Amino acid sequence: MAAERRPVYVAGAGPVGLAAGLYLASRGVPVVVCEGEQGLTEDLRAGSYHPPTLEMLAPFGVTDRMHETGVIVRHWQIRDRHEGLLADFDLGLLAGETPYPYRLQLEQHKLTPLLLEAAERFPDFSIRFSTRVAGATQDADGVRVMLEGPGRIETAEASFLIGADGHRSTVRAAMDVDFEGFTWPEMFLIVSTTYDFEPHGFAFATYIADPEEWVMMFKVPGFNPPALWRLAFPADPSRPREEIMDTDVVQRRLQGFMRREVPYEVVHRNGYRVHQRVAATFNLGRMLLAGDAAHVNNPLGGMGLNGGIHDAFNLGEKLAALWHGEADPAILDRYTRQRRPVQIEYVQEITIRNKRLVEEKDPAVRTERQDAVRRLGADPKAAFSYLMNTSMINMVRKAATID
Ligand SMILES: Cc1cc2nc3c(=O)[nH]c(=O)nc-3n(C[C@H](O)[C@H](O)[C@H](O)COP(=O)(O)OP(=O)(O)OC[C@H]3O[C@@H](n4cnc5c(N)ncnc54)[C@H](O)[C@@H]3O)c2cc1C
Repeated sequence: MAAERRPVYVAGAGPVGLAAGLYLASRGVPVVVCEGEQGLTEDLRAGSYHPPTLEMLAPFGVTDRMHETGVIVRHWQIRDRHEGLLADFDLGLLAGETPYPYRLQLEQHKLTPLLLEAAERFPDFSIRFSTRVAGATQDADGVRVMLEGPGRIETAEASFLIGADGHRSTVRAAMDVDFEGFTWPEMFLIVSTTYDFEPHGFAFATYIADPEEWVMMFKVPGFNPPALWRLAFPADPSRPREEIMDTDVVQRRLQGFMRREVPYEVVHRNGYRVHQRVAATFNLGRMLLAGDAAHVNNPLGGMGLNGGIHDAFNLGEKLAALWHGEADPAILDRYTRQRRPVQIEYVQEITIRNKRLVEEKDPAVRTERQDAVRRLGADPKAAFSYLMNTSMINMVRKAATID
């Protein structure tokens, strides 16, 4: 079989692998998504979607389904734990730029079944659970993908292999591509509670600066009702994990953030290390990287998952053209040329700046930044430019202009 007639394999049925599978199958490209786990993963992770992501998923009916339960976030805030509200940004300023001038918040594990449901409507889509991509080799004609499942090992012949297998990507290792960047010294502790912070004036996405203990908070549908508020705090990685996650310790941190007479109901907690890394290339021959396999960043700004979905659609379009013989293989170099620089220039830049803003310890620098944020929030023209970047609209537009 000619290489281009073989299916495209995708490692990983996270949101990015499923989005890539959905797009390719919709364009008549046979695609096999291989997921190491027995089913879609359920752990609480990202959950904030920016306008370009909603626009990309809309033609597949996924955006409408997300709106059935998602929380619409029209305003988001930057605060200081001592100074209070610094800026309240109205995403409605973007109304002339997008049909979705807001953030939509919905847990990642509620998006993935919607993506799978949409993809399964296309006969060219198939998914194999309990099937781990263990390695891959390639030549000019195709990719041999090593698959492992309970009690079985097999080799599949693919035209292309997309590594959407997360930040520890096996595909990236098989490509021998560096993952350049750094790891933040602290852990991120993520806590979900049923307590409603809205009556206290907090927007559904809020970033709170403090030199000792910054906080990021956002509301997701949760049990619908009750909704959940997810709070992220920095945590000392030199302490044992059991201590960081301990029920009383977590309760004390929430009470320290906002004192209540009764304990908070905590329904979920998780701690993880956060990295800022970008792969040296997103394409090598017939092997490609997308999502966390290609880039990772801190969650302040909600950009990681969104950027991964933008990769999936950008790559899907090029791969579909190539698979159907309508484009040259050099089109895959264009995928890296379009997606990698904007990942560095926007996502890495903005998320690193957001973290430095909330954690700044130098009092003079803090005052200067607080004043800058207040000025930004008070000037609709400046706020519009800022929101065009932080909502990822400029990033997607810029990528499209790169040849
Ligand atoms: C613990 C944790 C908490 C997070 N919290 C937040 C947050 O609060 N806010 C935020 O913005 N972002 C958060 N993130 C980041 C966000 O979840 C990711 O950006 C997003 O999941 C990227 O999607 P993905 O599809 O690229 O990768 P993933 O979601 O990681 O999906 C990869 C999939 O590939 C599968 N897989 C892995 N290896 C193989 C293999 N070899 N073969 C086959 N399948 C394989 C995995 O089982 C998984 O299903 C968090 C990440 C983690 C790890």
